[in-house]
Amino acid sequence: MNQAETKGIILFRKDHKEKDMLVKIFTESSGKLMFYVKGAHRKNNPLTPAILPYTQATYIGKLNSEGLSFLNSAKYIHPFTHIQEDIFAAGYATYIMNLADAAIEDKVYDPHLYTFLYQALEMLDQGIDGQILTNIFEVQILQRFGITINWRECAVCGRTQGKFDFSSKYNGILCQQHWDRDFHRYHADPRAVHFIRLFSHISYDKIHSIELKDETKNAIRQTIDQLYEEYVGLNLKSKKFIDQMHRWGDVLKSK
Ligand SMILES: [Zn+2]
Repeated sequence: MNQAETKGIILFRKDHKEKDMLVKIFTESSGKLMFYVKGAHRKNNPLTPAILPYTQATYIGKLNSEGLSFLNSAKYIHPFTHIQEDIFAAGYATYIMNLADAAIEDKVYDPHLYTFLYQALEMLDQGIDGQILTNIFEVQILQRFGITINWRECAVCGRTQGKFDFSSKYNGILCQQHWDRDFHRYHADPRAVHFIRLFSHISYDKIHSIELKDETKNAIRQTIDQLYEEYVGLNLKSKKFIDQMHRWGDVLKSK
């Protein structure tokens, strides 16, 4: 492939040899690509600001469909400065990016997921509640893992209003009248199921009005954890980190 130009988001980077770096970028035009950046640690490397963690930019280089890609330059560099400075926001951002990385193969064109990730990071950067942003991301990206769940209506009778629980037997929700159809239903907090249903189709520009009590947030967290454990089975360090983060948060609040 020849020299190309694409928007991209830095997913992660790791040192390679003494002075070089491998940088994984989710590009809008060609999916996730691993770039070899020669002399990344050299002083005054003009690429340095463009390859910092939590950055979006327009990258110019050789985008290869086989093997590694190569970066030549970058422009319109947009650092997510709040995320770069705030350990809590960075925790959520890292986890969200790890999910995007795990959900699809490298080099797969997916501009919709690219935009979804960009919106999530942009809103995190504006200081919007990281937990709600993350939960929406988790619920909507399930589809990319090949998991289709019917959040719309009771799997038995089609009811859309009332209290619901989740059933893996039906890959969807059951209304209270049909809870007896699945002995192993999640026994989730109906408020958690209510919000997860909402999160499954809401767009990020509509979430400004959502405010949740800690109790409801915890119930949502628990239910999504159960879903991920059963359906996705990832074991991400970044997820453990945000779980721990909540515990520090509680300690800080109680002081
Ligand atoms: Zn029903």
